[in-house]
Amino acid sequence: MPKSLEEQKRRVIQNLVEAGVIKRKIVADALMKVPREEFIPEAYRDSAYVDSPIPIGHGQTTSAIHMVAWMCEAAELKPGDKVLEIGGGCGYMAAVYAEIVAPPESDVKGHVYTIEIISDLARKAEENLKKLGYIDRVTVIHGDGSLGYPQAAPYDAIIVTAASPEAPKPLREQLKIGGRLVIPIGSPYYIQELTAIMRISKDEYEERGLGGCVFVPLRGKHGWTRD
Ligand code: SAH
Repeated sequence: MPKSLEEQKRRVIQNLVEAGVIKRKIVADALMKVPREEFIPEAYRDSAYVDSPIPIGHGQTTSAIHMVAWMCEAAELKPGDKVLEIGGGCGYMAAVYAEIVAPPESDVKGHVYTIEIISDLARKAEENLKKLGYIDRVTVIHGDGSLGYPQAAPYDAIIVTAASPEAPKPLREQLKIGGRLVIPIGSPYYIQELTAIMRISKDEYEERGLGGCVFVPLRGKHGWTRD
């Protein structure tokens, strides 16, 4: 008999805890709370807790579960943080961040801004987040996220979920001092380096390579294509 999605979710999260990818309970709890099956196309519902990327239309994918966990840990997300995500996709990762930075049972109210360049995906992400009760904690913006979102800056964390030629200057400048930028840097046709950049003073940044990853290309002014 096939295992229920809930059981599969528990198992995949447990595996990531044991492998050391998930380091904090707050990240495990957030992944446990968000129903990935509600964000992906119906045809993939049964595969919602397979730990691999899933197509979401327009040639884009939502990241594998271990990648979502890795990014939350690398960005050191915590309750109260203001987070900017570049590459909103289906809205799933934004919901996971929201469970960490603005847990409903807590008085600490962080917020997530997520920017998506493909209008149809931005609309779907907003629909998904509304339906699942996240829209008070997540704002979806349709536009070029390679420019950041200065209207709500500065941020505690900026997470880019697309392969970038470099860390765009506007994103560095929209970090708080002590803020973290997590970004896959490298050519979209090879393996990129997941990179964590911390702003340690107005003009100083500390950069660390965390390991290899594979993302779809970042588009826009500071991306691989200018559209
Ligand atoms: N975080 C997403 C998955 C992202 S896939 C999720 O939870 O599903 C990468 C996304 O980045 C794609 O949807 C792509 O359209 C988007 N993207 C690429 N370049 C962008 C840009 N400059 N600004 C905003 N979104 C961009």
